[in-house]
Amino acid sequence: MAKVVEVNPGIYELFLPLPMRPTIINVYLIDCHGAWALVDTGMNSPESIAALEESLAEVGIKVEDLDAIIATHHHIDHFGASGEIRRRSHATTHIHRLEAERAGRMVEFGRMSMTDRPESRAFFQSHGFPIEQFAPAGMRPAWMGTSMYGPVTNPDKYINDGDVIKIGDRELEVIWTPGHSPGHNVIYLRKEKVMIVGDHLLPKITPHVGIYPDNVGGNPLGDFINSQLKVQKFDVELVLPAHGGVYHDHQHRANQLIEHHRYREAEMLDLTRKHPQTAYEVAQQVFGGEERPIFHVMAATFETLAHLELACFEGRARKSERDDRIVFQAL
Ligand SMILES: [Zn+2]
Repeated sequence: MAKVVEVNPGIYELFLPLPMRPTIINVYLIDCHGAWALVDTGMNSPESIAALEESLAEVGIKVEDLDAIIATHHHIDHFGASGEIRRRSHATTHIHRLEAERAGRMVEFGRMSMTDRPESRAFFQSHGFPIEQFAPAGMRPAWMGTSMYGPVTNPDKYINDGDVIKIGDRELEVIWTPGHSPGHNVIYLRKEKVMIVGDHLLPKITPHVGIYPDNVGGNPLGDFINSQLKVQKFDVELVLPAHGGVYHDHQHRANQLIEHHRYREAEMLDLTRKHPQTAYEVAQQVFGGEERPIFHVMAATFETLAHLELACFEGRARKSERDDRIVFQAL
């Protein structure tokens, strides 16, 4: 029997399985009294769809009964099953435009090989990533190009900061929280003082924030920190994260996440004080040089890059070019 927890009157937490870590994603079903809304969807695996069906059955409804899908962001665990769920339910599907674009691009990239994308090769090389040492197949997640990622790429509604989505007798406010993903949103139920936070405010882990070829020139870590400050202004009694247990003090957790990144940034800058270094070189020292799957080495490099770029934006570091590589140095 699937486990479903009613975390607030009419708000249900559903636990859907993932074949990677974290191993569970929490999605939230909201009884809007006359209509049903689902925030995030899980991925499109047979196991996850079965768990969703069982969980909904426990509440007394079917996939076909869903009226609205709202996505925090486009990642596979959050939006991967949206295509299938919309096909069966005709639920009105809401997501930020930047996320819908990325979902479309991920599907498109799934059909190509890494070597079809010379622009990302140049990007990797410019940050010192030894791309020639790694097989392109190892550079992408195993689910890419499979039916496990089956997102809606033509949503019914684009959501924006400050929107209030009215469904039945509920009002779901959209708060734009870029950082982990550029169009990430948290969903706020003002009357209930409940915030569904996606990956923005996880209780135990820090979400990945990185710079990739699709956001060159951006400052996602600066955005992430601003988004932490932003959510702190809302009155919240119950925080509903996508991974880990529900909790109460979102202001405290936001502060911890900000401090964590400030500490990391200082640690990284220290390494560049004597000699300028590439993001890859810094990442190797901070995240350890032991054998790790290439996907992790890549994520560590681009998370490091996000810290170094933030330091440049804030005047604590500068970047220059050395042998066609971009190197950073603390000021
Ligand atoms: Zn995510």
